[in-house]
Amino acid sequence: MRYFIILLLIVLVYLIYAAIPSLWFKIMYKIKRKENGKIIYLTFDDGPSTYTNKLLDVLKKYDIKASFFCVASYALENKKIIKRIKREGHVICLHSLNHENAYLMDIFKTNKDFKNSLEIMKNLNIDVKYFRPPWGDLNLVSLFNLKKYNLKLILWHVMAEDWKKDTTAFDIKIKLLRRIKGGDIICLHDGRGVKDAPLKTIEALDKAIPILLGKGFIFKTVDKYNEK
Ligand SMILES: [Zn+2]
Repeated sequence: MRYFIILLLIVLVYLIYAAIPSLWFKIMYKIKRKENGKIIYLTFDDGPSTYTNKLLDVLKKYDIKASFFCVASYALENKKIIKRIKREGHVICLHSLNHENAYLMDIFKTNKDFKNSLEIMKNLNIDVKYFRPPWGDLNLVSLFNLKKYNLKLILWHVMAEDWKKDTTAFDIKIKLLRRIKGGDIICLHDGRGVKDAPLKTIEALDKAIPILLGKGFIFKTVDKYNEK
């Protein structure tokens, strides 16, 4: 009985610390989604990586600005790409220090994650204003840090499962074209995932973007989110 109560307490603390806040914000994001004409927001997680330059080429080709949710330690390893993202007018946002899950981070580790990653970004001359946690998972200390550093939480409305092993560029393109509606924040990946997964994302975008432009969609960055 004693062990059962201890186990129950652990589960309860865990629910309050991470599971409930994460679920709450994910649900609220879907509920609060506003139709916004033909405006959509392309966002890229898990970079910068060796694939990011190719993605930047595609965005440049169609003169589209996007938002890059960078992992701070990857940004440090890819300073040149960070400079290019900035130079070409995209918005650089934060996606944690090392892409670890907030469910598995205690108070101290979470604080350190924010402090160290913001320090890296500051040294790279990036003034970060937007944050997306890996897997969209938060804990109570993440919420405290968002307030402390004045960061706005950005989740997503549309994904195309572009990190999956068996997906193809065609699958990603079709999912994007079927799912995207005005007002959507679209989450794709320019890093991590299975081998060469971002290449499929880039190929899919090269095909999907002209079709979306043809349908009248307007691409904006997350700093313009909810603006008319
Ligand atoms: Zn991620």
